Order: sequence, then C-alpha cells, then structure tokens
Amino acid sequence: MHAGLCENCTHRKEIRNDRGSLFILCRRGLLDPAWPKYPRLPVLRCAGFEACSLRIIFLDFDGVLVTAASAFRRSGTSSVADPKAVEALNWLVAQTGARLVVTSSWRLDYSADEIRALLRSWGVEGNVLGITGVAHSPGSRGKEIQAWLDEHRLAGPIASFVILDDEPDMGTLSSRLIRTEIGTGLTRGQATMAQTILQAGSVEDSVL
Ligand code: SF4
Repeated sequence: MHAGLCENCTHRKEIRNDRGSLFILCRRGLLDPAWPKYPRLPVLRCAGFEACSLRIIFLDFDGVLVTAASAFRRSGTSSVADPKAVEALNWLVAQTGARLVVTSSWRLDYSADEIRALLRSWGVEGNVLGITGVAHSPGSRGKEIQAWLDEHRLAGPIASFVILDDEPDMGTLSSRLIRTEIGTGLTRGQATMAQTILQAGSVEDSVL
C-alpha cells in the first residue's frame, strides 16, 4: 500500500482489521475534525504532515550535568552544571536532533518553565519537551519514564529514546540507560554511546 506523505508522518498509526487489511489512522483526526481519521490514500498534500523523527533524551541533572566539583561552585542558591558535561550533551543533541524530557528531582522544586530557564542559564541548547511525573515506589524513575511514554505515544510515535542518569533504577527500560558518575558527569564517550542508542531505530512495541 502506498500511503504517500502518511508513510513518514509522525501522526500516522497503522491499524490492521480481522481480515488482515491495513489502514492508516491519522492521530490528528482523533483530536481535530479538520483532519480525517482515516485519510484517503495516498495523501499527496497535507498541511498537518510532520516527518517522523522524534527522539527523546530523558535527562537527570545531579551526576549527569552537575558533578561533584560543579556542585560546590554555587550560583546564588543553586549548584551549577559542569561545562564539559553540558558540552557533551549539546554535542549529542546536535548530532541526533533529540529533545529533552527532564527526570531530575529538581523538577520537584521548579516548574517546567523554570527548568527550561535553568538549563539555558547552564548553556544547554536542547529543546525541553517537558518533565516526567512522580511515582513513589521502588524503581520509580523507570516507572516515571514509562508513564511519560505511555501518556505521549498517542500524540505521535517516538522513534527512539535514551536515559542519562547516575542511578540504576530503570526497571524494564535498563537497556536504554547510559549510567554516568557524579565525579565526571556526562562524558563525550558516553554521549557517543547515547547517540548509538538514539540512532539505532524504532522503539520496541513492548516499550511503547
Ligand atoms: S497529518 Fe496528514 S499526512 Fe500525517 S497522518 Fe495525518 S493525514 Fe496523513
């Protein structure tokens, strides 16, 4: 089946009926009646087309951007990020086009907009999509990330994601973790490993 623009659109979802026929569901159509839920294929022009390339970096701060050394270089009342770790993260974002979702416990004290301003003040160039919610249970960071993925998958497919954290509690998402250390924060070598994960291809159905 030739679907035209829908082939590579972030809003498409494949639906197969009991007889094995394949349909394209337009997720825009679920939210906005201006778009048909089941577009007539092939779609050759569409104002809603957005290329499917969303990659996500789930980002912790302490131990990733804030290191043992930079934590003592105070700026006002807050710790500051290590410039080398920021440089490694900016390199990763530039290489992959990935967007940031903040998992750090700093999100408990700051709003999403304050987090964006804080990251800008540290020199982070990535675009912050949002922050994860809070789960109070063992292995909660992994559960918080999974909950964010579950909540956002209806808005469009996620091509890939990686988790940057100095803690191991990622549960079933552990294969996506690049574990950093508080002594150095994110290194260029670890950023390269993260790049490999982000560019490896589609996320497994069991994850999303
Ligand atoms: S936004 Fe347009 S191109 Fe994308 S899935 Fe919907 S109808 Fe297709």
